[in-house]
Amino acid sequence: MNEYDSNRILDLVKSIGYTATNNPSDADCYVLNTCHIREKATDKVYHDIGRLKKEFRNRKKPMLLVTGCVAQAESVEMLNREKYIDGVVGPQSYHLIPEIIKKIESNKNKNKINSTEFDVVEKFDTLNLIKNSSSKISSYLTIQEGCDKFCHFCVVPYTRGPEFSRSFSEVVKEAKQLVQNGSKEITLLGQNVNAYEYIDQTNTYRLSDLLVKLNNFKELNRIRYTTSHPKDVTKDLIQAHKSCDKLMPILHLPVQSGSSKILNAMNRKHSILEYHEIIEELKRVKPDIRFSSDFIIGYPGETEDDFNQTLDLIERVQFINSYSFIYSPRPGTPAPKKDTINPDVSKKRLIRLQAALEENNSKYKNEFLGKSIEVLFENKLDKQNKYFGRDKFLNSVIVESDQDLSGQLMYIEVNNFNHNSLFGTISNDEKRNFAA
Ligand code: SF4
Repeated sequence: MNEYDSNRILDLVKSIGYTATNNPSDADCYVLNTCHIREKATDKVYHDIGRLKKEFRNRKKPMLLVTGCVAQAESVEMLNREKYIDGVVGPQSYHLIPEIIKKIESNKNKNKINSTEFDVVEKFDTLNLIKNSSSKISSYLTIQEGCDKFCHFCVVPYTRGPEFSRSFSEVVKEAKQLVQNGSKEITLLGQNVNAYEYIDQTNTYRLSDLLVKLNNFKELNRIRYTTSHPKDVTKDLIQAHKSCDKLMPILHLPVQSGSSKILNAMNRKHSILEYHEIIEELKRVKPDIRFSSDFIIGYPGETEDDFNQTLDLIERVQFINSYSFIYSPRPGTPAPKKDTINPDVSKKRLIRLQAALEENNSKYKNEFLGKSIEVLFENKLDKQNKYFGRDKFLNSVIVESDQDLSGQLMYIEVNNFNHNSLFGTISNDEKRNFAA
């Protein structure tokens, strides 16, 4: 979502004569768009500011805005701690950035700006008036923001605010802009994307309605959505996985733990049995669907038995391309302070869990060897004759080619893989051993 927001910030500041530069030392204004999900994010912001100060030591200081969820959560503390910052802007106030820049440019008495209101309606009212200029082959499109779930470990409900869904017609309009700009793939975004619900005078629109609508866009090849919550995987959404042929057969469905006891302690609002039922339903309508997930290891109270249940879940679902982290307490969240797990125990569990995920991944990628897969190519890798694309399951695929593959949907014969990517050559026979 930060990538979407950064692009939109760029669209906004173009209206006051700013543009993006690839050369950081040329910049008059820096926007550090931050994420607060993990502990290290804040350190990274101060580290980046340190680098900036060094770079501009003997030159005129550039304007510096810190945006995103770290700005939202730590606004006053940041302005007090780091005088180099000119303004902090929360994720629901970034539509005000052109105004803020103007204010700072003319600010004689050097007042710092703190703009951290939850103005999500006004934000999208402003953004709806400005064309999305992203011309990436694969583009993001925010349809929903905020979260009402209040998982006990998570800062999002406090930094992004309550759930808000954009107007159905505005989302469709923006999707059309992206396709006109050349996008072949659109990923619909939300902190809780499948909680999307927009009600106008006559209809209630859900995520499934958006998927069906986008599926009819002739020039669009692929649709994805992320990140979803198991509680909001509704029957109509499951049905959309069957009826929308452009909806890719991979679903990122965060589970966090394989133990219902820990899920309850996390306030995840579903049991592990319910999670399995969703997976089975989706597999029933879309037999080739695969799943990726997020795992938190060492949540307070997690016993060896709870952890083993997570390993069992991984074995049963055979997740691919998943994320796993050791639990880190976030300020202001209600996760229990007692029953904390010894860091060495958590570390060992994480290693075991990641080994299990990696084993699944290798087994899964090994099945691709010698087979042809359909790849949507996105861009050329820097200074090499290599092109980067993704298959239907979001695997990164790299091939060498003298011809420009960007934007092309091609069949690739896979001949190698590593932890991150599949490698191959352009396949002469599209149908041979067609794997995906
Ligand atoms: S559903 Fe996701 S965004 Fe919402 S509180 Fe839970 S982890 Fe955070």
